[in-house]
Amino acid sequence: MADSSLSALPIDERFKPIQKLKEVWKNSIENPEEFWADQAKQLDWYKTWDNVLEWKDRHARWYIGGVLNASYNCLDRHVKTWRRNKVAYIWEGEPGDKRVITYASLYRDVNRFASVLKDLGVGKGTFVALYMPMIPELPIAMLACARLGAPFTQVYSGFSIGALAERASHTEAEVIVTADGVWRRGKVIDLKGIVNKAVTQCPKVRNIITVERTKHGVEMAEGRDIWYHEAMKAATERYVEPEPVEADHILYVLYTSGTTAKPKGPQVCTGGYLTYTCSTLKWAFDVKEEDVWWCFADIGWVTGHSYIVFAPLALGLTSVMYEGAPEYPDPGRTWRMIEEKGVTKFYTSPTLLRLLIKYGDEWPAKSNLDSLEILGTVGEPINPEVWRWYYKVIGKERCPISDTWWQTETGGFMISSAPGIELVPLKAGSATFPLPGIDPAVVDEHGVLLPEGEKGYLVIRKPWPGMLMTLYKDDERYQDYYWNRYPNAKEDLFYTGDYAVQDNEGYFWLLGRSDDVLKVAGHRLGTIELEDVLVSHPAVAEASVVGRKDEIKGEVPVCCVVLKVGIEPTPSLNEELRLHVRSVIGPIATPAAIHFVRNMPKTRSGKIMRRVIKSIVDGEALGDITTLEDPSAVEEVKRTVEAFRALYG
Ligand code: AMP
Repeated sequence: MADSSLSALPIDERFKPIQKLKEVWKNSIENPEEFWADQAKQLDWYKTWDNVLEWKDRHARWYIGGVLNASYNCLDRHVKTWRRNKVAYIWEGEPGDKRVITYASLYRDVNRFASVLKDLGVGKGTFVALYMPMIPELPIAMLACARLGAPFTQVYSGFSIGALAERASHTEAEVIVTADGVWRRGKVIDLKGIVNKAVTQCPKVRNIITVERTKHGVEMAEGRDIWYHEAMKAATERYVEPEPVEADHILYVLYTSGTTAKPKGPQVCTGGYLTYTCSTLKWAFDVKEEDVWWCFADIGWVTGHSYIVFAPLALGLTSVMYEGAPEYPDPGRTWRMIEEKGVTKFYTSPTLLRLLIKYGDEWPAKSNLDSLEILGTVGEPINPEVWRWYYKVIGKERCPISDTWWQTETGGFMISSAPGIELVPLKAGSATFPLPGIDPAVVDEHGVLLPEGEKGYLVIRKPWPGMLMTLYKDDERYQDYYWNRYPNAKEDLFYTGDYAVQDNEGYFWLLGRSDDVLKVAGHRLGTIELEDVLVSHPAVAEASVVGRKDEIKGEVPVCCVVLKVGIEPTPSLNEELRLHVRSVIGPIATPAAIHFVRNMPKTRSGKIMRRVIKSIVDGEALGDITTLEDPSAVEEVKRTVEAFRALYG
């Protein structure tokens, strides 16, 4: 099965200092079907599969013939045991309100909410859009959909009108579940107001169900809008039979930025995804029955889907869930919560760590962090100095760090240390080794394998159960973006869009995106998406967006804008454009700077040279600019950026 001809390092020489992990990995690569069949046995199936994998036209169908239900696996199978009274979520709101939710109470609410949805005509195949903050009603809504076999699409509550409307209408969602608002750094963010505006662009939406959270007074439309608490009281059924679905039934579609203006919607299956997220959580965090697991991320992103909702619940774990900002009302909040709740495994993003480091070591020192056993990071490369701080100041040099590399498209962790199998010597800033069943490689632009130590494109050979099935309603783009990069390669290579290097001991180092995608505070934003929004403003003729390095957020968007003839570049127009981007996409996309220029640096064939703009913005050497059409355009961008830097740093 393994094609060692493509490997720089022969299979027996990878994982050089390691034994057990190497054996498990080697076996998983050589006998994938046996290996993944074993993993799927951790779930409850109404009917077991006939075949483990069908791999055809770059589509993987896992556990064909198998029938299951995700909500059953996350709830029913636990409430039949002593876990009935085990805590599923220890929830805390930003203002300090607390809720402790057992598996039994989660089960009760999910059943009732499934009944509410059913009464609104939601069933197998009906899409529901979720635009919800980090409150327990979010996992309740996700599980209620899964119970009915209704796929959902969750839109991150930091996104704004345009992003929500686009996603809800692309899936043809018939119901939206939201909240009146959410607390963020002491202020109320009005979510229902955004839904009311977005829904005018979503003709299929019949009903909006609103959870009362902030009670700030929102507009409710008669006949269309329903309060969650009223609907739950009036629910007609207390038990809704879980809908048995085929293993490859869509569980959810989660949109993410790509290299075009339109976000793409990875479509995720039920059986493979659930198996994969459970296995990977066990491997990377060695999770145990008695753990208190805190994945400090937002459920609006894949990290929360997989590791706040589906895997921890399917494994019957106790999780912490928190609504608000990590440094509110003071920078000790996160560390205090670890002590108060006795968190044993803590998983978050480098951006959050960088934000908290800034306030100094005295804040974590105020809390007793002795309960911690394993730490983790996700979302962006972790700077070695941040890694060391995390290891020393938070983990007290006792807790291994699992730096997990993965993507929305992969469903679960792909490259990460795996203390659940064998604790390997760690290197600050390296995600270490592939998890079992995952066969990554570093290749050049033709798909040819690169030797150790050379930076190239990270690709994955062989399918894995958590992988996307396709892009929702866009299989052509699925083929083009992920699979058609290397037409002359010897085998299918899944393109990840990341740079990586493998060192002489087989360790993987992730080096950031290789395409036009930014990672702003760990959130993925397509530069072209932002450019499109800028150009949609009546004053703008042309726009180019690049990422500038940022000490806390990793990267922030910086825009160069050419205005239409006759329009004056004024500070108020600059502010208007910033707000325009913010209101269409959301606060995370707010440009750090907008530079007005008369000309963009372009090649002679008329293509904007983003690479050159990026070097200027990062203050780096320009590299080869021989194909440039008009050197004065570069000078102008340089002058504008430098003048801005002199003013604002
Ligand atoms: P998303 O799909 O939004 O989760 O973004 C996935 C992207 O985040 C990857 O393609 C990487 O660029 C980046 N990423 C995620 N985890 C890591 C990690 N541990 N180290 C480096 N980059 C990461």
